[in-house]
Parts: sequence; structure tokens; C-alpha cells
Amino acid sequence: MAISDSLHVTKSRIAAACVAAGRPADAVHLLVVSKTFPAAAVREAFAAGARAFGENYVQEGLAKIDELADLREQIEWHLIGPLQSNKTRPVAEQFDWVHAVDRLKIAERLSEQRPAGLPPLNICLQVNISAEASKSGLLPGDVRALAHQVAALPRLTLRGLMAVPEPGPGALAQHQAMAALFDALKAEGLALDTLSLGMSADLEDAIRAGSTMVRVGSAIFGSRG
Ligand SMILES: *Cc1c(COP(=O)(O)O)cnc(C)c1O
Repeated sequence: MAISDSLHVTKSRIAAACVAAGRPADAVHLLVVSKTFPAAAVREAFAAGARAFGENYVQEGLAKIDELADLREQIEWHLIGPLQSNKTRPVAEQFDWVHAVDRLKIAERLSEQRPAGLPPLNICLQVNISAEASKSGLLPGDVRALAHQVAALPRLTLRGLMAVPEPGPGALAQHQAMAALFDALKAEGLALDTLSLGMSADLEDAIRAGSTMVRVGSAIFGSRG
């Protein structure tokens, strides 16, 4: 399927899930995950109307941002993969969002290194909602403290939470647990607007639970092989 067609199908899935959940059609943003696909594929998705793109690997993302420099003002670039502290500077300088922050040290470096001429860097904290030992992200009980610390950093804007729930019978409950955590932080007065939850396979569960941003790769670009 052409990228423009699969993009359209994905938008239809999002719209149908919003209707099924009784949520407004514009309640959920689509982040197009372009990891492993070339800049030409991003350009094609851009031509079909996509404006927000997610990359997992810092070097690959920076190379694509560079190759697509002519579109830089019109594209929002999101880093959705893990970030090591020795790679924060180019990320602070080049990306618009970072979704997988789970340590204060990384957030402090991003804040210090965010150039003064740019708007604050948008941040989501990654939560290990399935509490699997192999997964990155904060344990749910540690989210609140870090959220307040990150919200206080001057060159960052804490937008919300992100997770990759474990597929299977318990998936919807994990999506719902993320939504509950998100609501609890907002009830404490944090001005959050982004629950980054749901991928190609589980965006319906995520939207049903309250996701405001789904991160979709393979359903748009095809299998990563
Ligand atoms: C790869 C990836 C996605 C997109 O996954 P698809 O199944 O291809 O839609 C979303 N979020 C993260 C963190 C990813 O690594």
C-alpha cells in the first residue's frame, strides 16, 4: 500500500476509536514513527499530510533531520527511544520532543543544553507500566516525584507520560493504569496534556483508555523486517 493510503487508513482507525470511546475526533494526535525508514519515506508521509515524526535512535534521527532540513520549520521531531546522558546535547539542540525520560540527570542535562533561542523542549516521562525487569522507564510509584522535579526545570515543558504496555490479555488494564496515573498528576496541579500511548497493534485500546498521542510506525510504512 502507498504511504498516503496507509496513513489514511491509520487516521480512519484513530477516528473510529475516538467515536467508539465517545471522545472528540481531534482528541488524539498521530505521531508517525519513521525509525529504520529513509528520509524519502518521511518526505512521502509529509506530502500526504503528516507533520509529527518519531525516531528511536539519536544518530539516525539526527541524520534524517539534517537530510530534511528544508522541511525543518514544518516538522515536529520526537525522540521516542532511550537517551543516554552523553548524547543529550544534540538532542536538546535538534529535537522538539523527548518521550522516554526516566532520570533526573537526563532531564537536567536537556534543560541546561536547550539553546536559548528555541522554545522549551517538550518532555514525556516513560513509565514501565508492566514493571518488567527488562524494560526501561520509571516504576509507577516513582513517577510523581520526578514529574514535579522535571516540571520545575526552566528550559523544559513537561507535557505528560509515555509507555509501551506489554501486549496480551492484560494490555487494556495497563493502558488504563497509565491513564489513571496521568489523571492523578493533573489533579495535583501539573499542567499536562499528553498521554503518549498506543502503537500500530494497540492504538484502539490506548484511545479507549485515554491516549492523546499514538505512535504508529509499521501500520504506515510497512514491516521493519
Ligand atoms: C517502534 C516504536 C513505535 C511504533 O511501533 P509500531 O508497532 O511500528 O507502530 C512506537 N513507540 C516506540 C517507543 C517504538 O519504539
